[in-house]
Amino acid sequence: MQTMAFAEPMVTVEPLIAVRGVDKLFGRRSRVVTALSGVDLEIGAGEFVSLLGPSGCGKSTLLRLIGGLHQPDAGSVTVAGTTADAARAAKQYGLVPQAPALVPWQTVADNVRFLSKLHRGSAAHPTLSNGEIADLLAAVGLTGFEKAYPHELSGGMQQRVSLVRAFALGAPILLMDEPFAALDEITRADMRYLLLELWERLRTTVVFVTHSVTEAAILSDRVVVMAPRPGRVASERIIDLPRPRSAAMEDEPAFHEIVRQLRVDLREQHQ
Ligand code: ADP
Ligand code: MG
Repeated sequence: MQTMAFAEPMVTVEPLIAVRGVDKLFGRRSRVVTALSGVDLEIGAGEFVSLLGPSGCGKSTLLRLIGGLHQPDAGSVTVAGTTADAARAAKQYGLVPQAPALVPWQTVADNVRFLSKLHRGSAAHPTLSNGEIADLLAAVGLTGFEKAYPHELSGGMQQRVSLVRAFALGAPILLMDEPFAALDEITRADMRYLLLELWERLRTTVVFVTHSVTEAAILSDRVVVMAPRPGRVASERIIDLPRPRSAAMEDEPAFHEIVRQLRVDLREQHQ
């Protein structure tokens, strides 16, 4: 008898998200913009990946392609073996935009619950209990604001509600397009750790768009550096800082070195 039965099966683990040879063009005839050219990218389940690059390098376009909101002109985007379109129809995504976009006439708790009702409500995805909503709001320092209305909150608080709402969807993939861009620098720095706190609890796959080197470095498992004209992936860097990440880490030499390397990666694209 051979010991075949005890051998590890040969399993190739498919990435959750696979972008292969993707081109994306906008406009027509003489005014064509190549927003993306030859983009290859794989993202594993539970990974936190940032797309980092200057304005116009195609970050939002790539995020929208992953989310099934754009179709590629060449290549393919697959999510757990299906098309991005099918994944969107199957409610696999939560989207966090730049501005919080809360429903003004709904309370904080109802804002969090509202979309999750549309997304969930099945046996596999039960709607959140009041306790669960309170728990998520507590994680971002909003205990006691469940019954407040958006206009009673600061911009930073509204964006925290927006974060909680996205995680509360229970979607396996969160797509975030510069969610902190509209916030002041100090609020923005706090938001990183609130986001990480939610992510550590729920371990959703996150694709995070930013043009902030420090933000990408402190948040991510991997940073994908993009370059413009045409938009493309220039390089990737694994961020091997331990988790959970903390604000204190931003003062450590290891962090400064990562930031320095990312800046070099970015600069090389402009030569
Ligand atoms: P980023 O998010 O990195 O700033 P975008 O993905 O928004 O970059 O844009 C990449 C390029 O594609 C830019 O040149 C932009 O002008 C162009 N572009 C993006 N969306 C559209 C669109 N809907 N129509 C025409 N051009 C677009
Ligand atoms: Mg953008």
